[in-house]
Amino acid sequence: MGDNGNDTKRRSAARCSNCGAIGIVQIWPDGRIQPLGQDQLCRCDDGELHVLEGSDRP
Ligand SMILES: [Zn+2]
Repeated sequence: MGDNGNDTKRRSAARCSNCGAIGIVQIWPDGRIQPLGQDQLCRCDDGELHVLEGSDRP
């Protein structure tokens, strides 16, 4: 039934604090964040990715 759930990775949206790019990332159990389907969310070398949790308010 569906994909095998033998991992605890989860997906979330994240935004680069440098350029403001938003993309989908995988969050690994150890806290590592990896853009989904691409090497980088944007082209910033030192941009920090901030995970956008569920309901975020400005
Ligand atoms: Zn960026």
